[in-house]
Amino acid sequence: MFKKSFLRFLAIFMLVGLFCCAQVMAQEAYTKAEQARYAGEPGEAETGYTIAPEVKSVIDQLLANPTIAQGLEFLKSDQGNRVAEQIAITEIPASPFNEDERAKDYARRFTELGLENVSVDQEGNAIGYWKGSGNGPLLVVAAHLDTVFPLGYDTKVTKDEKGLLHAPGICDDSCGLAALLSIVRAFKAAGIKTVGDIMFVGDVGEEGRGDLRGVKYLFSAVEGIDGFISIDGGGAGDITYLGLGSKRFEFAFNGPGGHSFSAFGEVPSPIHAMGRAISKIADMEVPEDPRTTFTVSVVNGGTSVNSIAANVVMQTDTRSVSPEQLDLTVSELVNYARMGVVEENLRWAIPWDSKNNITLDITLVGDRPSGSFPADATHVQVAYAAAQALGQTPTLEEASSTDSNLPISLGVPSLTIGGGGKGSKAHAPDEYYDPTDAYLGAQYGFLTTLSLVGVDGVTQPLLKENSGYTYEFSGVPVPDMYKK
Ligand SMILES: [Zn+2]
Repeated sequence: MFKKSFLRFLAIFMLVGLFCCAQVMAQEAYTKAEQARYAGEPGEAETGYTIAPEVKSVIDQLLANPTIAQGLEFLKSDQGNRVAEQIAITEIPASPFNEDERAKDYARRFTELGLENVSVDQEGNAIGYWKGSGNGPLLVVAAHLDTVFPLGYDTKVTKDEKGLLHAPGICDDSCGLAALLSIVRAFKAAGIKTVGDIMFVGDVGEEGRGDLRGVKYLFSAVEGIDGFISIDGGGAGDITYLGLGSKRFEFAFNGPGGHSFSAFGEVPSPIHAMGRAISKIADMEVPEDPRTTFTVSVVNGGTSVNSIAANVVMQTDTRSVSPEQLDLTVSELVNYARMGVVEENLRWAIPWDSKNNITLDITLVGDRPSGSFPADATHVQVAYAAAQALGQTPTLEEASSTDSNLPISLGVPSLTIGGGGKGSKAHAPDEYYDPTDAYLGAQYGFLTTLSLVGVDGVTQPLLKENSGYTYEFSGVPVPDMYKK
């Protein structure tokens, strides 16, 4: 018995060794190639960032045009309406997978503003069209309807003596939703005619387990989207153009369980298997550039203090700016989870075909693709120049996880920008928002949008028609905590 298990141990030990060598080699080869690609982004790009003459001239022509000037002026005067609308939207609860009431309300606002073909699509996104003069690109301008808060949070907005607005979700993303509506109102008020078409969207499922389901559905259902803007959170001048991809897993370690004393030695422990796995995962090496991270984020399980557990579950989160690196790190992590199981079964020399063996079920619970564009891509320059023209400080943000991740990964020029004002404590129940000069965010979105789609008789679209993409989406299951 001892000899057999020792041989098994030796075999596993050698396998682990081989595996680690392969991981390290792949890591090094990859990192060298990728470092060149990511060098200087986005930090260095900001000093001496240059705007191409064609971009500068579009912004200049728009600013010099009386209709556009009127639109910008309108946005300033619309500040009161916009903040009132931001409060009203916040007070309609919209937890992940339960955005329907807010979506219906948002669609109603689209209809009242005179957008065309207003609908709530199959996944729950509120959609309204703005028709251009024809033969222009199709731009999506979106803000997300969902909040991170499960059902049952009080969403009543309170205003304190400093004028700050308090409520969960008040900024993330009621700010974007309200800024978007203000932009449409300005189009109407100033009588703006665009060249390209715009699809305005209040999308579902941006946060957490929503896993970008709204935007995923949109890109699987709609062909020919040439560009994408997400207005998310506060600020005016921030530019997110890189998508930080993530993959999230749930690992369920299952065994027969048993009495902690009488079953000892016969029944391996799923908790011990998970512990072995976590110990290996904790020692994983990842590159700083492209920035890659991992964590075991949630553990749950056990039967009682005097039992060998039957079931235990851990959740993991892995992120990387680079899709190739993300896959490498994920495969390493998944292999360590499997090794934890093998080692625990081996520890007790449980025969391979025994029912007592621990099994592992692996479920992908989050998949947000990463992707990037160069910092000097035209759409990035457009946002940069628009922010500058409005007297704001353009900031090229580090990669993050937003609705833009998906279109960026499909090669569609995309930006996530702020909707104005200043938010604090996003994702916390005591989130609050300072609406001072929030109109600047709406102006930033307005000018960026118009530069990309073109204004009839004034400027040509800076957004080129995309070569096309295909994307298939098979849905996101509703986690128990969000079931009504
Ligand atoms: Zn958000």
